[in-house]
Amino acid sequence: MSDISLEATPLIAQYLALKVQNPDCMLFFRVGDFYELFFEDAVDAARTIGLTLTKRGKHLGEDIPLAGVPVHAVDEYLAKLIQAGFRVAMAEQMEPAEEAKKRGYKSIVARDIVRIVTAGTLTEERLLTPNRPSRLCALAFAADSKTCAVACTDISTGQFVVRCVPADQAADLLVALQPAELLLPDVCNVNIDEVKALCAARTIQMAHYPTGQLQGAQANARIAAYYDVVDAQVFGTLTVVEAAAVASILYYIERTQKGLNVPLSPPQQASTSHNMLLDAATRANLEITQTLQGQFAGSLLHVVDETVTGAGARLLLDWVSQPTIHLPTIHARQNAVAFAIEHEKWRSAVRACLKAAPDIARALTRLSMERGGPRDMRAIAGALSIAAQIETLFARVECTDIALLQEILAVLKLLPMELIEHLNAALVDEPPLSPHDGGYIRAGFDAELDEIRSLRDHSTQIIAQMEANLRAQTTIRSLKIRHNNVLGYYIEVPSQFGDYLREDAQKRFILRQSLPNATRFSTAELAELDSKIASAGAQAIARESAIFAGLCAAIMEESAALKALHEALAQLDVLLNLAQVATILNWTRPRVDESLALHIDGGRHAVVERALKQANAGAFIANSLDLSPFGGAQTGQIALVTGPNMGGKSTFLRQNALIVLLAHIGSYVPATSAHIGVVDRIFSRVGASDDLARGRSTFMVEMVETAGILNQATAHSFVILDEIGRGTATWDGLSIAWAVLEHLHETNQCRTIFATHFHELTQLQSRLPRMQNLHVLVKEWGNSLVFLHQVAAGVADRSYGVHVAQKAGLPKVVVERARTLLKRLEKGMDRSTPANLLADLPLFAALEAAPAVEALAPWQSEIIGKLQALNPDELNPKAALELLYQLKGMVE
Ligand code: ATP
Repeated sequence: MSDISLEATPLIAQYLALKVQNPDCMLFFRVGDFYELFFEDAVDAARTIGLTLTKRGKHLGEDIPLAGVPVHAVDEYLAKLIQAGFRVAMAEQMEPAEEAKKRGYKSIVARDIVRIVTAGTLTEERLLTPNRPSRLCALAFAADSKTCAVACTDISTGQFVVRCVPADQAADLLVALQPAELLLPDVCNVNIDEVKALCAARTIQMAHYPTGQLQGAQANARIAAYYDVVDAQVFGTLTVVEAAAVASILYYIERTQKGLNVPLSPPQQASTSHNMLLDAATRANLEITQTLQGQFAGSLLHVVDETVTGAGARLLLDWVSQPTIHLPTIHARQNAVAFAIEHEKWRSAVRACLKAAPDIARALTRLSMERGGPRDMRAIAGALSIAAQIETLFARVECTDIALLQEILAVLKLLPMELIEHLNAALVDEPPLSPHDGGYIRAGFDAELDEIRSLRDHSTQIIAQMEANLRAQTTIRSLKIRHNNVLGYYIEVPSQFGDYLREDAQKRFILRQSLPNATRFSTAELAELDSKIASAGAQAIARESAIFAGLCAAIMEESAALKALHEALAQLDVLLNLAQVATILNWTRPRVDESLALHIDGGRHAVVERALKQANAGAFIANSLDLSPFGGAQTGQIALVTGPNMGGKSTFLRQNALIVLLAHIGSYVPATSAHIGVVDRIFSRVGASDDLARGRSTFMVEMVETAGILNQATAHSFVILDEIGRGTATWDGLSIAWAVLEHLHETNQCRTIFATHFHELTQLQSRLPRMQNLHVLVKEWGNSLVFLHQVAAGVADRSYGVHVAQKAGLPKVVVERARTLLKRLEKGMDRSTPANLLADLPLFAALEAAPAVEALAPWQSEIIGKLQALNPDELNPKAALELLYQLKGMVE
């Protein structure tokens, strides 16, 4: 492909030259009303998004594959290609065809790449998801390889944040940010395999930036040039590595947007010290924003997201993904939520307004990038009007002592009212999406436009009016205004009146043509009218474009106020949303402070509770937990939970972690009361999963995650561990679980819930003073089991695994066999000598018996089962006789 052959037609040669400059992109090559794709791009697009593949001419003796996309539908195809992981370079025609013709018969229209469309640089409404951000992130590593700067922008809104984290936490932060695209250094001193694996697993588009060009002074110079400031340090002292990450984002935007000004806010240095750290495994296990299967439904966010605007939903996602540990922020949010709960009518009225509020930030970005249309302006006008309504609603309540609401109100009070009036006066109520065809400026707004439109739409009446006027002035009743393609509009009078007009005192009439029966004239006024009518359509569009540009400039002048409004409305939406959720779901305000308390009464699992309700599967059983250091007798910083399978241990663990997380976004929580000392990190090791992509078995993943917890948890952390040590041999597993528990107790000293089936661990309570035993209650009815889902102090006697296996539908013969084995094992066989155990147990008895049992009737199998489960040595004579009667009864 890079060989631009002499054989190529001019068009294909031009195509190939552009393709060579952008080898990593699919090339959309504008030809009239279509974007055409050639060669392997055509084949790829046909395969990926089902375009029809044809051919066009030959190149080097081979057919050239061709596929096409109509210009008006391009967004739809772009969306599909971006989703499939492609980048698309858009080659546009840079001049009208007439210009090219002037250069000669064989000349072709000049084309150039005007933009590269990539997953992280989208701005079009149709390519964006309203309630999700569209983030472009970049990583840069410090020379010592220990620190990583993560720069993150959403160009659809202009947000731009940079923060530093330890290099090994870069992947965790990326999981929280969920970028659409990630920029990586082309030369890297750190092993970034984990980051690359993450990108592959989550279909994050990757691109590389030239490290050599974006370091030190070069990085600073690029930042200063982008923002047109003297020195990058006007934005605060960016560290060398932060500057490199920021500069690489700017480099990439310049590369993909081809010099178009993207209105990014100056990079804001985010402090990670204010955020709760959540590693990727914890995030996944707690199913915060998506379930382990990747679904939104079933996640915590799904339950707490009742926001009514796209911007609100995006902000809530941010809060939930990066909870804060800054107490004043948590308290300020809680106060606002509490106020909104108390003022229900006000809340619904404001939410009803917000629901109709369009997305200002994205509209603003599109307009400033010259990709916007009249609908974006309408959106801004609409949002401003709604904001004005909300301001009046604020007047109905007394919220002077609610700081966050006061901040929002302050923004609402500074609304650019003139802009609302200006936009409302200028724009029709329902404008078209694109400005190209005009028709969006309201009649009566601009006299010149009205005149042009009236010419375009009422030329016949205008000419008739002029004709009538001329007749009256000249008193020639047979005077007519006519039109032909050669003269355009002209005045025609019978020949006998020709001289009369020629000798007009004011010399208004210009002779155009003398015919035997008629003489034709024009006037300056008619000539002007003629040209106006001829070009009225194009003129109307041009005039509207000029007005559009004026409106755009007026909007841009207010862009700071509009951005502030956008943030204020998003925040209001989220706060009211939290109030709404708390009210509907009957949540309570947690006390969050600097202590090490963790005392939750009547706690519930937000997601399981909803699922039970929806399935009409009974009420969720609330459970309490107290890990506070100075609680009552039944407390202790580490709770060891035992109980039957399916009893509700995992649910209990997760519900407490979720309650802690919700408390740290400023939300109310599903509990009757909660006191939570601020938690710096939540760690969760729940369930087993392979990570085969990274070459880790289930047990390896379990151990890597456990190691992470033991190495990092502090006294302020909250840890939930579910069945550590299950993925290996019993004694290895028990030993590991034991040692982990001791380490958490002695070294980490963090609040912990540890669920286990190793009942041996419950003995540790006597040795570990800050450990408490909890168990999940269950009731046995004969052979069946009722799960009470109630957590109580104390120790469970067994795990009831066989009962659960029976419930799950294991073949009866296997269940009975398992019962026999369990009984023998429990009867005190020496478990320390597995070899003896093996030798003693009649192995494969179940398998041998199976064919015979399967052939039997159910009642026969039942008898055999009973006999197999029977231990004659345990029967007294009375019981033996009763059994005999029972068995006889079964065969009669
Ligand atoms: P295993 O040891 O087998 O992993 P488990 O003890 O962890 O089991 P969970 O997975 O937490 O059990 O719970 C099993 C099911 O019980 C849940 O899917 C849920 O439907 C139900 N459940 C759990 N806790 C409660 C509760 N408090 N109230 C009502 N239902 C509950």
